[in-house]
Amino acid sequence: MHAPCAASTVPASDPQETWPVGLNADLHCHSVVSDGTLTPDELARRALGNGVQLWSLTDHDEVGGQAQAAQAARSIGLPFLTGVEVSVTFADATVHIVGLGFDDTDAQLLQGLYATRGGRDGRAREMAQGLAQAGIPGTFEGALKYAGNPELISRSHFARYLVEIGICSDIPEVFRRYLTEGKPGYVPHRWATLRNCVRWIRDAGGVAVIAHPGRYGFNPTLEYALFSEFIAHGGQGVEVVTGSHFAHEYPKYADMAREFGLAASRGSDFHSPHESRVDLGALPPLPSDLEPVWHLLQAHIRQ
Ligand SMILES: [Zn+2]
Ligand SMILES: [Zn+2]
Repeated sequence: MHAPCAASTVPASDPQETWPVGLNADLHCHSVVSDGTLTPDELARRALGNGVQLWSLTDHDEVGGQAQAAQAARSIGLPFLTGVEVSVTFADATVHIVGLGFDDTDAQLLQGLYATRGGRDGRAREMAQGLAQAGIPGTFEGALKYAGNPELISRSHFARYLVEIGICSDIPEVFRRYLTEGKPGYVPHRWATLRNCVRWIRDAGGVAVIAHPGRYGFNPTLEYALFSEFIAHGGQGVEVVTGSHFAHEYPKYADMAREFGLAASRGSDFHSPHESRVDLGALPPLPSDLEPVWHLLQAHIRQ
């Protein structure tokens, strides 16, 4: 079931030189296939224009944009890794795991993502009910207009609609006032388990990476548990430099990568030219003593 990745691969002769730790890799972003506003094609061109040297598209729970992303990247000479960002429930919180360099036709992975996406429609309807009770009707339809497909609807789509109709002035304000725990549009949801998610990615030949660990608000005990269990299930990487962290958090997660022996990843988490704090390719490089996650994935890079 480990079908080899299509297209040519990089010779493994001088990997450190070809893919150094200081590479401008951007291995986390979103397209219109999930909650981004650009197409895979537009993202590939934007990445190249911004100096990205290795790129991955990581839509939420969906690999429907991978073929177009791979094709777009190849046509402009941009090395590409397949990607996905899977929603996982861990310790009653939602944690994101990025998968990189897997076979995007693997049946078990596709089935797992399909089941994970299945929860979004019902959750979105509950969120809309909560918002209607708070005096904001019609948000399911409003969010759906942005998502296009109820299977892919997410909090970001609700946020865009609430900004559009003038309830809030920007996306962070919507999350703060309406979409986080204890607020009217918040609906807890059970996603994939950490164990299943890591297994889907690994069995499909890829590497699993903890996305933006600083965003979960875990205390040190829970954070330690997340890292330990992730590794026990076969996880191999962690995002150290990410657009979803502040710069002062980079050293902390560089230390966690060293302590746990995890490879380091780097990605902007870019969603939209108008909404994202960090553009594709605009982050500082990884600390030079870390092992970059792309060293585990050389044979999977499409170019
Ligand atoms: Zn995320
Ligand atoms: Zn993301």
